[in-house]
Amino acid sequence: MTATTTSPRTAELIAQAERWGAHNYHPLDVVLARGEGAFVWDVDGRRYVDMLSAYSAVSQGHCHPRIVAALVAQAGRLSLSSRAFHNDRMGEMLERIAALTGFARVLPMNTGAEAVETAIKAMRRWGYDAKHVEDDRAEIIVAAGNFHGRTTTIIGFSDEPSYRRGFGPPTPGFVLVPFGDAAALAAAITPRTVGVLLEPIQGEGGVIIPPDGYLRAVREVCTRERVLLCLDEIQTGLGRTGAMFAWQHEGARPDLIVLGKALSGGLYPVSCVCADDEVMAVFTPGSHGSTYGGNPLGAAACVAALDVLVDEGLVERSAELGAHALSRLRAELHSPEIAEVRGRGLMMAVDYRGCIAGEVARGLAAAGVLAKETRGKTIRLMPPLVISRQDLDTALDAAMPVLDRR
Ligand SMILES: *Cc1c(COP(=O)(O)O)cnc(C)c1O
Repeated sequence: MTATTTSPRTAELIAQAERWGAHNYHPLDVVLARGEGAFVWDVDGRRYVDMLSAYSAVSQGHCHPRIVAALVAQAGRLSLSSRAFHNDRMGEMLERIAALTGFARVLPMNTGAEAVETAIKAMRRWGYDAKHVEDDRAEIIVAAGNFHGRTTTIIGFSDEPSYRRGFGPPTPGFVLVPFGDAAALAAAITPRTVGVLLEPIQGEGGVIIPPDGYLRAVREVCTRERVLLCLDEIQTGLGRTGAMFAWQHEGARPDLIVLGKALSGGLYPVSCVCADDEVMAVFTPGSHGSTYGGNPLGAAACVAALDVLVDEGLVERSAELGAHALSRLRAELHSPEIAEVRGRGLMMAVDYRGCIAGEVARGLAAAGVLAKETRGKTIRLMPPLVISRQDLDTALDAAMPVLDRR
């Protein structure tokens, strides 16, 4: 069932993907063909406001001309060198990311999950080398409701049954604690604990914002117990929550930060782990690598994407427009079916009491607003940070009756 009328062309393209692809996603019946800024167009020329932004990867807006130009120019010059040789673009990217994050060193990868895997390897090896944990016994504490990607190790410590089922045995060495409870986390620390891996705000979990003071308390516990704090800011980082990084809301600087998604503005997969010398020094030649990691094409896109983020003031914009949108949602949504409206910056969510978010998402698409449900009960609203206040208000006007079940 769909609220939009499906054209023959749309039906044909969906059938083709369904016929030849694995069915590991269940997308809305919308086939996109073009994007610009906060808008996307389907194959029939219908325009939508993108309120998902590829899970925050296109924070800089679709096909940002500066990032496109950098990518196109680099594509005709040198795209891939492998790390067997140096290339003339990677260093600039690393320096820029280090300056932006305030960490001494950066290790580039491609997808978010790979960067999380990299951080897990770093924490484990640091635990054995620096903390002298007994071989193969290191533990990393993770939170209930986490989402860190789809590799076998990462899904092994997810508590979402559909992510895990049939993919065991899980990688050992992960301990699950409730999210938002610093005392429970402190109680789970043992002499074998090497790290804590958290999202500052859980994205896929449904924009779950922990209680005030949580991250600060976790930071204090980690420092006291000599445990590394690794924050996965793949979704929350680079302005999404109204600060450059979500840890800054509480001054809880991590020991490792993982970035991805908006790091390249949706033009090319680029991810990384940042840390200071003591942690990054665990990586020696041969200990880690990636054929495409640090490639010139990705580096060019990344540098341009960071330029756009800073030059266009997107972090400040996220804080300002996020506060505006959240106050509108709070003032205008009254349905008894709504359990909660929450958000930080342009990372917002509407929670329903029942599993109706999929139906709401289809209704929103029919109203020209693209969003996706997460975990059945939640609609996430995360427009590109470049969206104008007027376009945001127009999108909210269109979305409000659907969100409010009128
Ligand atoms: C999207 C996401 C990932 C995984 O990134 P991929 O590029 O899809 O592998 C990891 N952690 C968080 C918090 C994410 O939002």
